[in-house]
Amino acid sequence: MWQAEVGIDLDAIRGNVARLRGTTRADVMAVVKADGYGHGVLPAARAALAGGATWLGACTLGEALTLRRAGITAPVLAWLFAPGQPLHEGVAADVDLSAASLDLLAEVVAAARAAGRPARLHLKVDTGLSRNGATAADWPALVEATAKAAADGTVEVVGVWSHLAAADVPGHETIDRQLAAFHDALGVAAGLGVTPRIRHLANSAATLTRPDTHFDLVRAGIAVYGLSPIPGERFGLRPAMTARARVALAKRVAAGEGVSYGHAYHTQAPANLALVPLGYADGVPRHASGVGPVQLGGRRRRVAGRVCMDQIVLDCGDDEVRAGDVATLFGPGDDGEPTADDWAEAIGTINYEIVTRFGSARVPRVYR
Ligand code: PLP
Repeated sequence: MWQAEVGIDLDAIRGNVARLRGTTRADVMAVVKADGYGHGVLPAARAALAGGATWLGACTLGEALTLRRAGITAPVLAWLFAPGQPLHEGVAADVDLSAASLDLLAEVVAAARAAGRPARLHLKVDTGLSRNGATAADWPALVEATAKAAADGTVEVVGVWSHLAAADVPGHETIDRQLAAFHDALGVAAGLGVTPRIRHLANSAATLTRPDTHFDLVRAGIAVYGLSPIPGERFGLRPAMTARARVALAKRVAAGEGVSYGHAYHTQAPANLALVPLGYADGVPRHASGVGPVQLGGRRRRVAGRVCMDQIVLDCGDDEVRAGDVATLFGPGDDGEPTADDWAEAIGTINYEIVTRFGSARVPRVYR
């Protein structure tokens, strides 16, 4: 009998991608970095492709190569490299690479030479996030150098792209500003003879709320997994992950007992305590101490006291609880169980952080 599991509903992933496809005429890239946002990179990628995604987004070269080694042939874009990565392996494996500086472009060109074939390149422009991407000041030089590399046949310019800072806040002034900056960057590139086939800017939030940012391809991550990028909205998405465990020990204790490390919680009255075998090593944030909601016996309860490495304790009051009962930390919410959004709200983070934590070697992912 299973003890703890992270259930992944692949139908939900397929359906979420189909839902996204219905919102746009652009192609959909399913972002499967960070082990598919905690859902398992390969099953998540395959389900997303089955749902109609035609691209996959990886962050690191290693993630992209994992997809290729598993035999996935769909276009894959990888975009975050410190100097000295084996980019030639990416070129050889037909992974699209991003460059945001002359130095990185030089590495991509060298990788193409080493691999003996042109590198498929996406140039990244910083339109206001101040993260990855060439600044407006550095952009013309990067485009010019790319045009030369394209003329030499070392790179094939596939895309020009950027990333939004606050698309999860509809109406945020940065969205229009970044969109205008993206158009400017495309204009500069065209003026220098670089016209990419694929322009891409939108993340999940922009895919769901701003059709004018869709261009040729949208890059959706969190929505693929059924979670909303905008708190309080659902967008008809279905959460794919459920985290649950069976009670390992149930026992009655007296009023006033200190519970878990540091005795941060004391029972108010005689209570039935349930020991749930999931802890911070499994993905339960330690910040959920005292606040994380868990459903057990048809009722929501809060983690009593501190989250431990391997376990949490629930105070079930006078409710009957037995070893083997199923405690659900979060799921789609269909049966009244908390959602990843509830966990995010309880500990002051975002649903992205909740799901990416789950799925350790110790807690199997179970695909349905
Ligand atoms: N594009 C880039 C460059 C990203 O880093 C991410 C994720 O953070 C995404 C797209 C997908 O974002 P979201 O999960 O909000 O859809």
